[in-house]
Amino acid sequence: MTDTQPPFLAFALPDIGEEEIAEVVDTLRSGWVTTGPKAKRFEDDFARYLGEPGLQAIAVNSATAGLHLALEALGIGPGDEVIVPTHTFTATAEVVRYLGADVRLVDVDPVTLNIDPALVEAAITPRTKALVPVHYAGLAADMPALLDIARRHGLKVVEDAAHALPSTCGGRLVGTLDSDATVFSFYANKTITTGEGGMLVTRDPALAARARVMRLHGISRDAFDRFTATVPSWHYEIVAPGFKYNLTDIAAALGLHQLRKADAFAARRAELVARYNAALADLPVLRPALPPAGERHAWHLYVLRLADEARIGRDQLIEALFSARIGCSVHYIPLHLQPYWRDRYGLRPEQFPHSQRAYERMLSLPLHTRMSDADVDRVAAVLRAALA
Ligand SMILES: *Cc1c(COP(=O)(O)O)cnc(C)c1O
Repeated sequence: MTDTQPPFLAFALPDIGEEEIAEVVDTLRSGWVTTGPKAKRFEDDFARYLGEPGLQAIAVNSATAGLHLALEALGIGPGDEVIVPTHTFTATAEVVRYLGADVRLVDVDPVTLNIDPALVEAAITPRTKALVPVHYAGLAADMPALLDIARRHGLKVVEDAAHALPSTCGGRLVGTLDSDATVFSFYANKTITTGEGGMLVTRDPALAARARVMRLHGISRDAFDRFTATVPSWHYEIVAPGFKYNLTDIAAALGLHQLRKADAFAARRAELVARYNAALADLPVLRPALPPAGERHAWHLYVLRLADEARIGRDQLIEALFSARIGCSVHYIPLHLQPYWRDRYGLRPEQFPHSQRAYERMLSLPLHTRMSDADVDRVAAVLRAALA
C-alpha cells in the first residue's frame, strides 16, 4: 500500500549543515568538550557580527540564563519591580522571580504586539528598577521610546532578543542599542541554534565582569588570571554563590557555523514571509506587522490573526492544519492567563485587552529555512479552504 498522506510539515526545524557536524566531530575528537576555545571564538565572532566596538558577548547555556545573569548583575533583588510584557514566554518574567523581585506585566501594542511604551510609563512605581522589552517575533520593540522612559525614570533596560537575530531598530542591529544588556537565544527553534544556548551582550564592563563570574559558580577569573604567573593553576577564588550557566564547546561548535549563516537564513525567512503575505492577502486574516521602511525583521515567527469576519475560530483552524499534517503553534498564551502569574498578581484578562484579543485569534504558521516555496503554498491552500 502506498502512503498518500503528505509528509508532516514541521512548525520549526533546525537547519544544521555538514559544516556544523564536522565542527562538532572536531570538538569531540579534540579532547575539550566543555567551555573552551570554541566558546571563546563564538563570543568573539558574535561581537564581531554585531559590529560595534566595545561590545562584550558572553556565551551562556540558554537565554533564560543570560536574562538571569543580566538582571543579577544590575542588582535586581527583593522589593524591586521589573516591567515585562504579558505577551511573551514565561522565561522573560521568571528570571525576575529567581532574584526575589516582582514582575509588573503590561499590555502590548495591538498592531506590533510589542510592549506599549505609554503603558510602561503608567506602570512605573517607586519600586520599579528595570524593564525587559521583547522583540516579538523578530520585530524590534519601540526602543527609542522605551530608552527615553528608562532614562527619565532611572530604570535599567535588558532586551529579550530571543527572537531578534538579526533585527534592526533605527538602522542599528539589536544588540548594539543603548540598553544595559541584550540577550539572544539559540534554542532549537530560534533563528540560529546551538541546541540549547544563548548570548548576553553588553558594553558595560562591570556588568560583563559580574556576569562572567556568576556564569561559572562565582569563580573570579580576574583573581585567577592575576595570579597565574606565580600561583599554580589549581588555585581559584569563589567570590559569590554563582550559577552553572556556561556554554559547552560542543554547542559553540554549532554556533560558529550557524552565525555565519544568520544573514542567509534571515534572507530566506523574509522570502517565505513575502510568499505567505501574497498568498494570504485576500483571506479574512491579519498578516503580521511589517517593520518600518529600511529596518530588518528577523522573522522568527509568522503570526497570523483571524479577522472578525472569519467564519471559523482559531482552534478550528489549528485543527484543520493538523488534519492536513501541518504543524503550527500559538505565541503566546499570555502570562496573565498562566496560573502562576495570574494568581500571584490577581490578574484579569480585561487588564490586558490587546494581548488577550490577539491571543484568542492568533496562530503561528510553519516558518523555517528548510521549507520550500511549495510548502508555503500548501499551508496557504489549507488556510484558503478553511477560510475562504
Ligand atoms: C525562547 C525564548 C526565551 C528563552 O530562551 P532559552 O534559550 O530557551 O532560555 C526567552 N524569551 C523568549 C521571548 C523566547 O522566545
